[in-house]
Amino acid sequence: MLSVIPISDALSLVLEKFGTRSLIETVDLNAAFGRYLGADIIAHEDVPAFNRSTVDGFAVRSADLRGCTDSIPAILEKIGESVMGQACELPLAPGCCVYVPTGGAIPPNADAVVMLEYTEDLGGNQLAFYKPVAPGANLILRGEDLKQGEAILKTGKKLGVADIGTLAALGKTTVPIFSRPVVGIISTGDELVEPSENLRPGQIRDVNSAMLKAAVEQYNGIVISKGIVEDDFYALKDACQSLIPAVDVLMVSGGTSVGEKDNMPRIVAELGEMLVHGLAVKPGKPTIIGEIEGKAVFGLPGNPVAAFFIFDYLVKPLLLAWQGGMVEVEQVDARLTRAVSSNHGREEFILVRLDGGDAEPVPSKSGLISTVSRANAYFIIPRDQEGLPKGALVRVTRL
Ligand code: AMP
Ligand code: MG
Repeated sequence: MLSVIPISDALSLVLEKFGTRSLIETVDLNAAFGRYLGADIIAHEDVPAFNRSTVDGFAVRSADLRGCTDSIPAILEKIGESVMGQACELPLAPGCCVYVPTGGAIPPNADAVVMLEYTEDLGGNQLAFYKPVAPGANLILRGEDLKQGEAILKTGKKLGVADIGTLAALGKTTVPIFSRPVVGIISTGDELVEPSENLRPGQIRDVNSAMLKAAVEQYNGIVISKGIVEDDFYALKDACQSLIPAVDVLMVSGGTSVGEKDNMPRIVAELGEMLVHGLAVKPGKPTIIGEIEGKAVFGLPGNPVAAFFIFDYLVKPLLLAWQGGMVEVEQVDARLTRAVSSNHGREEFILVRLDGGDAEPVPSKSGLISTVSRANAYFIIPRDQEGLPKGALVRVTRL
């Protein structure tokens, strides 16, 4: 019998025992996408560094256009042009204007730009303006995008597409980033074959190696995979022992229960320490949490749906903690379209298909991985609750 503990207790234990490793490295901006920032980013200069026009038009002193109308236009003299990529030092005296292309620098003393379309070229460098312009119109001011000294991105932020752009605008070509955790993955089971294989009777394809690799990579982990190892104590022990020095965390799926061929409990006990064997959760009861040579070891249930949820609940937060990242859960309230039963004395993960405010339960068994593909969210029934009626409001988490 497994002495089971609640999954939330298991998570606390994992984070307390293993959660403090945080290594920071410097990476090229081009390699920083999707990684977690290792330090706050402060703007060290103003962006843009000069006042720019947002339109093709004429830079003016807005006071010169005060009161002009269709019948009494303001006539200004064009004294030159601003050239893209160059400073514009033309002294703009009252009564003068300067042509500025979109993005060009405006001259000192100018405080607005009038779109070309709203002016008339009278010839001989004389331009007519028919409408007043507000100070600041059609301008991006120096420092309007980023002010020197401003904190723009916080430690632990997962760098998105726009963040890469913001860093480029600032000239941050190298970025402090939390280093990627290395995760060892092993699948064990005599019935397992590679996904590329044709199946013989009694065989199934190894789902967990590929699925857990994708899960780890989603959180920037580096995977070292041993592939499939047979249900042989020494073969599996060897595989674990050889991976441990190279990884931060080891995940072995399969062989975690109490059957004759379940070798993981003994391997963890022999190589290190068993911290938890058994979780009060469905699916996922035969889960192991252990420690070998100071490394976190997870024995995940072989059933892929259980492996999926236990990774999500226990391993993902650890990978994120190491990278300063937050677990971002998107939760919404929805109404059950059907009753669901649960009387297991364990918390139960229920898959649902969210459709507007409705949550349609997706029938599942822990061996049926496609049920997770069909679902787009789940909720948890507390261990002391005997199911939920149709129409019950549930807080679902998007997958
Ligand atoms: P075990 O945890 O070894 O008792 O396996 C529980 C169930 O999960 C069994 O039906 C196994 O065939 C299945 N299973 C174990 N490992 C995998 C895997 N890597 N991919 C797909 N199914 C698996
Ligand atoms: Mg097995």
